[in-house]
Amino acid sequence: MKNVLVAVSGPSGVGKGTIVKTLVARREDVVESISCTTRAPRNGEQHGREYYFLTKEDFLHRIAQDDFLEYDEHFGNYYGTPKSFVKETLKTKSVILEIDVVGALNAKKAFPECRLVMIAPPSLEELKRRLISRNSETEEEIEGRLARLEYELAQKDKYDYVIVNDDLEEAIEALAKIIDDNKA
Ligand code: 5GP
Repeated sequence: MKNVLVAVSGPSGVGKGTIVKTLVARREDVVESISCTTRAPRNGEQHGREYYFLTKEDFLHRIAQDDFLEYDEHFGNYYGTPKSFVKETLKTKSVILEIDVVGALNAKKAFPECRLVMIAPPSLEELKRRLISRNSETEEEIEGRLARLEYELAQKDKYDYVIVNDDLEEAIEALAKIIDDNKA
């Protein structure tokens, strides 16, 4: 019985956070990796819970030490998956990375046993409607998000599994089954 590294991706608003967090709360043998970032904490975020908040200097030092399984820059800040945490944890538990498509593909390059899971919406139209009706972004931001959404979903073929989030409970079960099948 081996433990499994699973990267879960999907467009924003698709419900991947809820699926991952519910599964992790139910299963003692599965944990979510906490990424490092150089962005400032948002209200309510805690060091070591949402992210490890590092200075840019620290982050660059850790890049030089080869301590990231993968890292990337988003909106001018660095984000990375700590390699030491993932490798150490895999000795006793399975690990889930909640990560965008580019990060997931890089994680698989660095760690080929990594299984890639895409969470897809039941309908693209519905997800678009939700994004637009949130009304929290400018038209330009929405355009950017829609382009990104289509790009992410277009990468489905590079993924090992696609879970359509039609029903939350079924989606959680599907992710649990992927972990169990790969543990065997
Ligand atoms: P936010 O600042 O909103 O929490 O995240 C911004 C972006 O960074 C999101 O697209 C998120 O998926 C991505 N991100 C978070 N952690 C990591 C990571 O460890 N590696 C990579 N490559 N991207 C990450």
